[in-house]
Amino acid sequence: VTVFYRPLDKIAAMMESYPKGIAGFRRYQELLETAPDVADHPGARAVGHLKGDIRFAGVSFGYSENRPILKGINLDIRAGETVAFVGPSGAGKTTLLSLLPRFYEVDSGSIHIDGIDLRDMTLASLRRNIGIVQQDVFLFGGSIRENIAYGRLDASEDDIRLAARRARLEGLLAELPEGLDTIVGERGVKLSGGQKQRLAIARIFLKDPPILILDEATSALDTHTEREIQKSLDELARGRTTLVIAHRLATIQNAGRIVVVTTDGIAEQGTHEALLAQRGLYHRLHTAQFGADPFSMDA
Ligand code: ATP
Repeated sequence: VTVFYRPLDKIAAMMESYPKGIAGFRRYQELLETAPDVADHPGARAVGHLKGDIRFAGVSFGYSENRPILKGINLDIRAGETVAFVGPSGAGKTTLLSLLPRFYEVDSGSIHIDGIDLRDMTLASLRRNIGIVQQDVFLFGGSIRENIAYGRLDASEDDIRLAARRARLEGLLAELPEGLDTIVGERGVKLSGGQKQRLAIARIFLKDPPILILDEATSALDTHTEREIQKSLDELARGRTTLVIAHRLATIQNAGRIVVVTTDGIAEQGTHEALLAQRGLYHRLHTAQFGADPFSMDA
């Protein structure tokens, strides 16, 4: 049972800029008020569309001074690579990835994208380069169109339709008399978990960031829906640097690289096959969990 605060779950919606005049303002304010104290550094400049090479160099971080969570993490990720992060619950996977959009500031060390220190970029331009898909989808009580265009209000009708198609939302849209203009949320049509996920995916297709962070769901979806969502996610990941907090067997096995995180740091990394052959921690986690339904590395 996760009782502690989950940074990605709570704050990811802030990644997108607030769409003026659209319902959901209060929710946005709430999120803003819980935002940690991170600001633009003097001299920070706006970066354009980055390539997505990522480097963690000696990164240490703790939520409080007397309790370090990450200790001197070194990790290089090439643009376009898919990396799955696995490891015991509480090891710091979510924490590590929440440093990339600068939800928190590193205590020491540095993080670079395309060789640029995150602190030398404006927050807004950094976050325009990162898309986050998580279990809890942030929807506000507007139309499906507004929810997709959230964060990119200049999007054309064609852009929005293309994003919806790529996220496999077309079936749903065809069923709704008002299509894209259907109001969702408390005062409108209730969407299922899978439909919300698709909407979140459409949002990111539209945003088109070079870097993707996926906080995978552990369960909640039926097998068929999960497989369909996985297809959309695979397509979304294509050509982007993709960092996955992995729970699903499929993701873990297909990742170009698996990074095993423990409270002591990065224990192992390699492909699924290489790590199994190594017969270390990954092998143990895998053996312990194999056959469990749903597959989960959180032992
Ligand atoms: P899981 O697989 O369960 O998601 P994880 O590997 O992603 O775990 P984190 O969520 O990064 O682990 O948590 C790492 C440690 O940091 C845990 O001990 C957790 O209690 C602590 N932690 C996480 N978020 C906060 C926070 N906002 N404030 C204080 N401590 C936190």
